[in-house]
Amino acid sequence: MAKTKTKKDLLSVIVPCFNEQEALPIFYKELNQVLKNMDIDHEIILIDDGSRDETLKVMRELAKKDKKIRYLSFSRNFGKEAAMYAGFVNAKGDYALTMDADMQDPPSLLPKMYEIIKTGEYDSVATRRVNRKGESKVRSFFARMFYKIINKISDAQIVDGARDFRLMDRRMLDAIISMCEYNRFSKGIFGWVGFKTYWLDFENVERVAGTTSWSFWGLTKYAIDGIINFSNVPLDIASYFGLLMTVIAFIMLIFIIVRKMIFGDPVAGWASTMCVIIFIGGIQLFCLGIMGQYLGKTYMETKHRQHYIIAESNDDQMK
Ligand code: UDP
Ligand code: MG
Repeated sequence: MAKTKTKKDLLSVIVPCFNEQEALPIFYKELNQVLKNMDIDHEIILIDDGSRDETLKVMRELAKKDKKIRYLSFSRNFGKEAAMYAGFVNAKGDYALTMDADMQDPPSLLPKMYEIIKTGEYDSVATRRVNRKGESKVRSFFARMFYKIINKISDAQIVDGARDFRLMDRRMLDAIISMCEYNRFSKGIFGWVGFKTYWLDFENVERVAGTTSWSFWGLTKYAIDGIINFSNVPLDIASYFGLLMTVIAFIMLIFIIVRKMIFGDPVAGWASTMCVIIFIGGIQLFCLGIMGQYLGKTYMETKHRQHYIIAESNDDQMK
């Protein structure tokens, strides 16, 4: 009987890169080593997210040597979310994997991840750091708070310490691609689409080169975005405030009317009046701000702008 050669699975490795000229060659070498020893076909999709260093040059050189590399370069920095989305859209694989270029997502975990997804029991293998070694205490504290809050108030479960380092099958990938919202928050999207996920734990690894592009303020904004993208609870809170204030005002009204009828109208209480006015004014502005956040998001969504603009690529079919 003639041996039929079964086609190997194709794995798309998606790597968003922003100013990774030093890390990228190290990363590529290690990734390639791991991929070579796996029984799988692969393509590597490198996305240059408008880097200001020589990242694109490094990509061009790597792509010259390795035909399995497809790269695309954005016209400016569109952010990691846009870069990942570009990777998802262009992935041809039966499986897709996203990972960072700085070696914080160890390629050595790949064979284990593939083995787990191959059993067919899970649609996705996700990873999470079990500790936050090398991160400042304040940052860890706020990160923990964020996960607590978002898991309470949104319908997308987000695991503490979860990284974007994740392997998924075509089914899940297609579901993620079909979520083409402009305000992307992948950690939430991964959870929102559902499917069965296996969680793989690993120890935190520090960057091999370069610096993180996240400032504390940037992370705070990211956290607020995450909450607003996946929950309407802040809007509810605003309306509860309004309701509560109305009830309090009503009680005070009755109190004042009764007092006037009994004691007359002595002109006093200027200080307390000011306090109340300022307090209510503050709450009003706060609630207005919450509404503004949602309105702003809605505004950006309705424009239907593209998520990114490609300036250069080694593959004409990249879109
Ligand atoms: N990244 C990106 N665009 C950005 C910021 C970051 O594509 O605007 C990439 C970056 O090159 C890296 C990954 O996203 O591969 C994670 O970034 P970083 O290491 O700065 O984040 P951290 O690991 O500290 O969360
Ligand atoms: Mg990193």
